[in-house]
Amino acid sequence: MKNKWDTSAVATGSALDEIIYGSRLIGSDPALVLHGGGNTSIKTVERDLYGDDVAVLHVKGSGWDLGSIEASGFTPLRIERLRRIIEIDALSDSDMMNELRLASLDSRAPDPSVESLLHALLPARAVMHSHADAILAITNQPDGEARIRGLYGDRLVVVPYVMPGFDLAKAALAAWTAQSHKGSLGMVLMNHGLFTTGATAEEAYARHIELITEAEELCFASVSAAPTSAAELPAITAELAIEIAEMRRAISELATHPVLLSRFSGPAVANFVARSDLAEIAGQGPLTPDHVIRTKRIPLIGRNLAAYAATYAAYVAANKLRRPGGLTELTGEPRVIVDPELGLLIVGDNAREMSATADVYAHTIDVIDIASRMSGYQALPAGDIFDVEYWELEQAKLSRERSVAVLGGEIALVTGAASGIGRAIASALLAAGAAVVGLDLDGAVVDTFSGPAWFGLACDVTDDEALQAAVLAGVERFGGLDIVVPAAGVFGKSQPIAELDLAGWKRSMDVNAGSIVALLKYVHPYLKRSPDHGRVVLIASKNVVAPGPGASSYSSSKTAAVQVARVAALEWAEDGIRVNMVHPDAVFDTALWTPDLLKERAAKYGLSEEAYKTRNLLRTEVTSAIVANVVRDLCTDVYRATTGAQIPIDGGNERVV
Ligand code: ZN
Repeated sequence: MKNKWDTSAVATGSALDEIIYGSRLIGSDPALVLHGGGNTSIKTVERDLYGDDVAVLHVKGSGWDLGSIEASGFTPLRIERLRRIIEIDALSDSDMMNELRLASLDSRAPDPSVESLLHALLPARAVMHSHADAILAITNQPDGEARIRGLYGDRLVVVPYVMPGFDLAKAALAAWTAQSHKGSLGMVLMNHGLFTTGATAEEAYARHIELITEAEELCFASVSAAPTSAAELPAITAELAIEIAEMRRAISELATHPVLLSRFSGPAVANFVARSDLAEIAGQGPLTPDHVIRTKRIPLIGRNLAAYAATYAAYVAANKLRRPGGLTELTGEPRVIVDPELGLLIVGDNAREMSATADVYAHTIDVIDIASRMSGYQALPAGDIFDVEYWELEQAKLSRERSVAVLGGEIALVTGAASGIGRAIASALLAAGAAVVGLDLDGAVVDTFSGPAWFGLACDVTDDEALQAAVLAGVERFGGLDIVVPAAGVFGKSQPIAELDLAGWKRSMDVNAGSIVALLKYVHPYLKRSPDHGRVVLIASKNVVAPGPGASSYSSSKTAAVQVARVAALEWAEDGIRVNMVHPDAVFDTALWTPDLLKERAAKYGLSEEAYKTRNLLRTEVTSAIVANVVRDLCTDVYRATTGAQIPIDGGNERVV
């Protein structure tokens, strides 16, 4: 592991700048910390409003990621008060958090890290803490403690496993008091991670990197000796995709809300699921108890969801007395699935969460692989994991109001998503919490939006094979399809029938009608398996109801598509799938309407551009965002009893009314 400290990159040299820089270095390496894990601190002396000098611990606040932390992500705490808290014999973790908040010098600062007391008890000015893979690979072995002591000698104080919270602070204080000496560099917390100390953040960071490098070297020495196998998993097929969609529906039922389910089948996963000891090794438990919140204690091995839920209920029943005041039982669905044929499947309430869980499990696979080539992988006993899963601080989060997005856990597929109305619809669905598969002829669709909820695929919707492959890729990425919005379309040249270019007519029919029949055919198996009933919203046109001269290709092809959608509404009602249509008119904020075209058309009618844009009964401009909002709402429960409807979005048109 490389020391990346660059003295010239540290901002102004204040204590906070120093620790912010070091925190970002640690936080940007996934081999050290993942998604909110780890924490750092620096101690200063500051003069308060009353002129008194106060010893202050600036510690990472909860809710911040080390990789992107800023000054406002640190909470200033009175050290004297923290040291008094540790002296108390016993304290609940909720009471400890209350005391930590009361020790703050800034009421606007975030809640301090639950590990703040560990930072306070270490005398050094700067402290850095990570959950490094290499450390966990060594601690999580039957002889982990002996290996750690063998590697580090007395340079590090070793703290036996205790769950995070007040009791861990007490255990760390006892271990530090008993084992530390002038040359101590920090602490190893068994099955948890590493703390290093230093007079400066640079020193604490350098020690962190050096000590982890030693752990890595020990691990690599074992790994390189082992032969590498080369298992491979089958590529996605319609059969596997349907199986995944079935599983997603069943998992959503257990979770009591729609969830996403993503398939991973790369080489590391293929080798992992091909292990003959898969059940034993994957059934051990997480790398560190914190991970239980994302991954549950163990993954589902294979596909028997009912058996998994029953095992989970039995585990809760067996351990519930560990929480005297009672508990709110969590739902019994797996969050991670390992299957010899499917590979790794990750469950998420939303894409961000799913991607974090996927990262955590990818590291779990790596660490299990390393540890199992040494003395063997050994996780903590189930009871210890249960304590963190049902920790009072986690249970408290459950009772707080959770804001669930209106389309959270749902999956939409939008065609023509790189620009115009399609893009606006994708944006509205993303904002409503859906994961979106966006198809477009334009390769820019890949980056039209960023973040884990977006999956853009370049695809010519009239290419049957490409369309089928895109649908399968979408199901593989998110676990199924709940919402389908065919928005790709072409207008073609304006031509009277007497002069009609027949190739253009054919192209319009292919894109505006043919591709939609094909798309509906391919998505039906997934819409049918949607946990919350499938929905289709076809972007048709005012021209369906009120065609315009010169637009025979456009008007006819859109009408054909509407007729297909109406038949789908009839055929698919028994599957609970709703199929509705919208008829936008004169949506000018799309690529189709160049400034020149707008000027030309307005002049043709003898109107100003503004007047031309609002040529409707309501005298209002119809934007792609307005169309997108209608489409989004049609996909919500508000329209649960509406199918086969055709809704104008045209500002009011006499020929339509
Ligand atoms: Zn920690």
